[in-house]
Amino acid sequence: MQVFGPNELAADVLNKDLCIGCGACTQMCPYLKSYKGKTSMLFSCTRQQGRCHAYCPKAEVDLDELSNFLFGKAYEGSPLGSYEKVMISKAGPKMISGNFQAGGTVSALMTRALQKGQIDAAVLTDWKGLFPIPKLVTRPEDVVPCASSKYLTSPTVSMLNKAQELNYKRLGIVGTPCQLTAVAKIRTNPLKREDFKDTVGLTVGLFCTWTLDARNLVKYLSARGDVEKIKKLDIPPPPSEILIVTTADDEIKIPLSEIRPMIPHSCSICPDMTAEWADVSVGVLEGRPGWNTLIIRTEKGAKLIADAEKSGFLITDRMPKESFEHLLTAAGNKKVRAFRQALKEGCINNADNGHAALRVNPAVIKGMRIEPEEDHVGHT
Ligand SMILES: Cc1cc2nc3c(=O)[nH]c(=O)nc-3n(C[C@H](O)[C@H](O)[C@H](O)COP(=O)(O)OP(=O)(O)OC[C@H]3O[C@@H](n4cnc5c(N)ncnc54)[C@H](O)[C@@H]3O)c2cc1C
Ligand code: SF4
Ligand code: SF4
Repeated sequence: MQVFGPNELAADVLNKDLCIGCGACTQMCPYLKSYKGKTSMLFSCTRQQGRCHAYCPKAEVDLDELSNFLFGKAYEGSPLGSYEKVMISKAGPKMISGNFQAGGTVSALMTRALQKGQIDAAVLTDWKGLFPIPKLVTRPEDVVPCASSKYLTSPTVSMLNKAQELNYKRLGIVGTPCQLTAVAKIRTNPLKREDFKDTVGLTVGLFCTWTLDARNLVKYLSARGDVEKIKKLDIPPPPSEILIVTTADDEIKIPLSEIRPMIPHSCSICPDMTAEWADVSVGVLEGRPGWNTLIIRTEKGAKLIADAEKSGFLITDRMPKESFEHLLTAAGNKKVRAFRQALKEGCINNADNGHAALRVNPAVIKGMRIEPEEDHVGHT
């Protein structure tokens, strides 16, 4: 993995509109800050290499390196990434009810992991008015108040950086695919620091097709009146084509056609729909309200699922064949779209100036038949 410094982070990510606001470059130095949905470099810094660049999920993401590190094999470009099993699930009878986005699987797993001591703290995402904010919780009962999806850019990973300084030893984190790409990069110890310790004990990934730029949604809502606090965002299944924003005293329905321009440019080069670098990944199961799709990827994930089921925190079932096929198609399509766009923008395997957002074996791209001009594929 190539690691550069803050100047390259600014040139290759911030100034190219590729920042997704994940917060991985913040809470480590005085120069980079995240404020109300925007990550900014306050002062310049002349380091040749820095954690800011090393952790960024939009700079020099070497997919082979991450896959080898987490799964012991090269990146294959398969739609769902590496996994052991795909099932469906929802919170079990031991869970208290909550403002769950779908089946409450994520809240159930984090509650159980804290209760059992598998992790000593969990990095979650809560609301602060109109903006998502990261939250560190240590008690199982503090997980459910953070339930529900904030379909907005969120500096969630900044809390992992902060928690590491607070000396937590086994952290759990719930994140979108880009946030968990940053977490996976962090775990590879990209700067080869001798004092490095991997303090991540559990990663729960959220499926993601796109998100919305928090600042743009806030601007949009503010223009419509006095909106101070969001309680829930929901995108009902097709053909509804709307985003429902539930506030303290209102329900605002926004056509998706008005929402799409708020999708960050960065999402267009994101090849991961199912959070491929997680121990387990969770999405909404279409066509069966109140249930999640659940992908178990690692042994640690499998043990947690078995224990959560046995202890009554989780209920699982077999995934219907047609749902699985739909999942494969959606995830595969996102990958192809993203690699095609990255090729078009010249930010994949870029050999010209030595900098790239993504690095992947050219054979993987060829296998996807993305109709690239041969010389665009470049070298890893
Ligand atoms: C930006 C975004 C896009 C998504 N897109 C899809 C999609 O295309 N298809 C699909 O099937 N599912 C998508 N999801 C996942 C889905 O909305 C649910 O989060 C998932 O199914 C888990 O449901 P649950 O009931 O188990 O979650 P809950 O038990 O309600 O828990 C939700 C968890 O998500 C965390 N969280 C909320 N917002 C964020 C955020 N912005 N960043 C990091 N963590 C957050 C919270 O901390 C909480 O722990 C998306 C989620 C997000 C945040
Ligand atoms: S680490 Fe995250 S917040 Fe920082 S520049 Fe990269 S994408 Fe943006
Ligand atoms: S589409 Fe990718 S880059 Fe965009 S928010 Fe989702 S995971 Fe992050």
